[in-house]
Formats: sequence, structure tokens, C-alpha cells
Amino acid sequence: MRSLRALLRSLLTKDGLDRMGKPITRRAFLAGGGAFASMLALGGVAHAAGTGTGELLRPPGAQDASRFTALCLKCNRCESVCPQGCLRTGLLEDGLLSWRTPIMDFHRGACDFCGKCEDVCPTGAILGARDESQVIGFAEVNRERCIAWVQGGCRVCVDACPYGAISIDGSSRPVVDEAKCNGCGACEYACPSNSYLTFAGGTERGINVRVALSAGSSKGGDAR
Ligand code: SF4
Ligand code: SF4
Ligand code: SF4
Repeated sequence: MRSLRALLRSLLTKDGLDRMGKPITRRAFLAGGGAFASMLALGGVAHAAGTGTGELLRPPGAQDASRFTALCLKCNRCESVCPQGCLRTGLLEDGLLSWRTPIMDFHRGACDFCGKCEDVCPTGAILGARDESQVIGFAEVNRERCIAWVQGGCRVCVDACPYGAISIDGSSRPVVDEAKCNGCGACEYACPSNSYLTFAGGTERGINVRVALSAGSSKGGDAR
């Protein structure tokens, strides 16, 4: 990784002017360094809080966190091309290493394994995206937010799942079959709980895709 000094230098023009053409003073240079250090610290805190690169939902075929981090150029081509709109750009609170990298956001759309993100990726950071056996994550029912669990009368996620991974228990509540779920996000995208249970607050839905403990290979998850 480039040093802080080198990074700051890269923000300047050759003759020591900023991008607006004004001279860079020593004070401004040091202030910029302080701000950058704060950004580093923020990213570090977020990473320590469990939102680092190894615990984020990635496009299919990008579940090997170390390989992905090494290869991703943060060019955002995958996000731009995704026809489902289910990719977002990583923020600083996602961890410094994941800043500006693609992260699945199933509030925007669900992945249908079309593979277009892989087609445009210039480095091979996304590999095998058309393989529906790739495990992006696992769906987990939130009993405090799922309409069927709170009051009954909803089976939207059951009908939305393209893989038949959600069944109904004896009390008409959804249960996820871990062996069939690949984390496509169709259930989370379709879940209407935020519209119905507005009192609950937050953005968590009745069913949410979580990162697999051993991303990309094992079948885990929870249907609590
Ligand atoms: S496989 Fe297709 S739908 Fe899924 S993230 Fe990539 S571009 Fe989007
Ligand atoms: S297209 Fe590839 S290199 Fe570019 S942001 Fe997406 S995963 Fe990273
Ligand atoms: S349970 Fe949800 S995330 Fe899992 S395969 Fe079905 S729709 Fe996709």
C-alpha cells in the first residue's frame, strides 16, 4: 500500500497546486493528512465491528474475501451493468478495504445469476457468477419482523423464492431450507414487512440474507 504521504501527493498536481489551481500550504497538507487518518480510523472501527470485507455479501463468485480484495479495482463496472440493480458501492463504514467495492443490496433487487457482472469485470474478481450453486449467503427469518411470525397472514417470501427453499410450518410461518438456499435475495427483496410493521423502525426485513460463515462453500444459515 502506498504511504500516506504518497497518497496525499497523488491528490496534488506536479507543481504543488491543488485541483483548483491554488498552492498547497504546509498547513493544508497536514490537515488533509489528518482527515485521511480519521477516515482510516473510521474504516478500522467499522471493520472491528464486524463489517469488514470478509463479512459482506458479494456478487456470486466473489465469496473468497482475500482473493476478491486482491483483485477488485473498485471500477464499479459490475454495479453499473447489473440489470437487477442489486449491487451498491461500499461505504467507508463497510471497512476501508471494502470502500467502493461492490456489495449486494437486496433492498434494491435480487440476483438472478445472469453473470453480467462477471462479463464486465476486468480482473476476474468475479468468477463463476452464472453458477446458481454459488452461495452468496443464507436467508434468515427475523421473528420480530416477519409478518407471519408477528401476526400471521403473509407468505410473500415463500412465493418469491425461485429455488423452493422456503416452506411453511404448522403455524403458517416461513422456514428456510438451508440446503436449497443460495442467498439470491429474492425473498428479502419481496418481503413487505417494512411497509406493514412501520412501528419496528430500522431497515431489517422479515427475512434477510446473511453472509455464510464459510462463504462460497458450506451451507449454513438459520430459519429461526
Ligand atoms: S449475476 Fe447478474 S443479477 Fe447477479 S449481481 Fe451479477 S449482474 Fe447482478
Ligand atoms: S467489475 Fe470487478 S474490478 Fe470492477 S468493481 Fe466490480 S468486482 Fe471490482
Ligand atoms: S430463501 Fe431467499 S435467498 Fe434463499 S434461495 Fe430462496 S429467495 Fe433466494
